[in-house]
Amino acid sequence: MDERVAEDYGRSWYAATAIAAPERPPLGFDVDADVCVIGAGLAGLTTAFEIARLGWSVVLLEARRVAWNASGRNAGFVLPGFACDPAVMIERVGAVQARRLWSLSEAGAAYVRTVIRENALAGVEPRRGWLDVSKIDDLGEMQETLNILVGELGAAVEGWSADQVREVLRSDAYFHALHFPDAFHIHTLNYALGLAAAAEAAGVRIFEGTPACEIDPAGVRKRVTTPAAKVRAGHVVLAGNVQLGALMPALAATVMPLTSYIGVTAPLGERLSEAIGYAGAISDSRYANHHYRVVDGDRLLWCGEGTCFPGDARRVVDGFGAAVAAVFPQLGPVEFTHAWAGTMGFAIHRMPQIGEISPGLWVAGAFGGHGLNTTAIAGNLIARAIVENDDTWRAFEPWDLVWAGGLAGRLVQEARMRVRNRREAVEARFARRRDQKRRAAALPLYRRGEDGADAPPPPAWNEARAVTGGGAERSTPGPAAEHDPRPPASAGYGGRTYADPSFGAVAVPEPPNALDWRRAKAAEPGGAAAPASRRVDERLVDERPADEPPIEARPARPRGVDGRHGRAGGR
Ligand SMILES: Cc1cc2nc3c(=O)[nH]c(=O)nc-3n(C[C@H](O)[C@H](O)[C@H](O)COP(=O)(O)OP(=O)(O)OC[C@H]3O[C@@H](n4cnc5c(N)ncnc54)[C@H](O)[C@@H]3O)c2cc1C
Repeated sequence: MDERVAEDYGRSWYAATAIAAPERPPLGFDVDADVCVIGAGLAGLTTAFEIARLGWSVVLLEARRVAWNASGRNAGFVLPGFACDPAVMIERVGAVQARRLWSLSEAGAAYVRTVIRENALAGVEPRRGWLDVSKIDDLGEMQETLNILVGELGAAVEGWSADQVREVLRSDAYFHALHFPDAFHIHTLNYALGLAAAAEAAGVRIFEGTPACEIDPAGVRKRVTTPAAKVRAGHVVLAGNVQLGALMPALAATVMPLTSYIGVTAPLGERLSEAIGYAGAISDSRYANHHYRVVDGDRLLWCGEGTCFPGDARRVVDGFGAAVAAVFPQLGPVEFTHAWAGTMGFAIHRMPQIGEISPGLWVAGAFGGHGLNTTAIAGNLIARAIVENDDTWRAFEPWDLVWAGGLAGRLVQEARMRVRNRREAVEARFARRRDQKRRAAALPLYRRGEDGADAPPPPAWNEARAVTGGGAERSTPGPAAEHDPRPPASAGYGGRTYADPSFGAVAVPEPPNALDWRRAKAAEPGGAAAPASRRVDERLVDERPADEPPIEARPARPRGVDGRHGRAGGR
């Protein structure tokens, strides 16, 4: 890897596979603009791009390089929803408002997809689908989440049984899952670099190596001081994430930094496609562990171990080998060739901070582990608020700027995460043992067969076929799949790859038009956007194998909120 790139972006697989991008010079002269955006992560880039597209002049200041932190280092999952548990969201603002917010979150993800397509962004490689898998066999809890997502929020999601999950993820550590067919994953650094180029083409002036050192937000024209020059602008947008500290200490104190680690393995060859027959993104925990996906065809990108007190990325990532082996022992020892860390920012309430904090001073921050769709929401809403007086951003007003607790807050958060992870690990061990006993008890019956004749033994997971019904995108089936004597469970299977390099060619209805925020705004129960997502759900559920009944979505019943972060949230 180019040492200069490594210095700017860390020793990440993203940096090693980044598209060529220009280095932008620091600001060396005073400049006037309609809007000054501070921070060139995805929040700042999207905001600047959208403001320029609406015809206003924008200066974007970046202390280091475009997307050098979270935006260029994350796991690349583009998901609907927020870091906040949907049930907590409903509890706070009611079902109608929560549905509107969920619709915005889907529009945020769809925006990313649209930007990739419309600007023909190179090296982003979107792949469809997200499986949120249970390893603790919590069917009741997952059923409740599904009810809320479908019944209350109109989300495009379906329930998968344990057998469906194990057909694509050959691991007896896993049980049922929620499947989000409209989610996808991307090469996040290439997306950010491509977005920066598109923003410049739209007229944004980006200055790297230019920290904003001071702001005078009073008056109609605000002043931003940098080491060598000043910017004067009618509006200032603060999109500095956890690095904003010195510039706005009071605002920075409302954001809790959380560092997470990512490793990418050496190429694993066919053994990877034999273990993982799903080309989308996968999460197997409600908390910081583990999120993974296949990259480069046969490498595994593995993300986890969130902490408020960062350590050495190489040391942490070397420990991922044991976690991988616990889920996919058939892979054998794996070597991580790339290891890096990134830091995201959370508000205490786990919703993003999007809005105007004083006249002409805007904040876009605290996106947590859901930043790929929510930075897109922030950029679009703030751009429209500034240029068109649109007030959709007020949907986020119920979530105030709240002090994150300083060092004490981080200690408490760290302790909570450790307890949760520990509890989840124990629950997972028990669930696995119960399952092994159940399967062992069922084995003699299976062997005898219904008519008493000998039947072949059930396949081991590492021989399982790469076939199921449903709308999942598959990676190329391994040789075991080709040798499977059984008829395919879905008419769509013919040994072909379900990977979708052209992305978007698969006939799944588009979520609400990414660029038409008014549609998302109008999306309320019975409104325009809701039936579209329900259509997706029904279509996919109908395609299941007949012998695999879907987890039914039933009307949600009220439940207590214990503050835990449920599925489709809490990343
Ligand atoms: C390991 C990891 C995995 C993640 N996985 C996912 C995922 O799979 N899906 C998902 O949706 N989200 C994920 N996230 C979260 C997501 O990456 C972030 O929420 C999102 O990128 C935040 O974007 P941002 O623009 O707010 O911040 P950043 O990307 O941190 O950008 C902020 C920028 O502001 C600049 N800046 C700060 N202060 C100043 C100043 N005074 N002057 C000039 N510039 C300044 C910084 O230099 C920085 O470049 C993950 C995060 C991490 C760390």
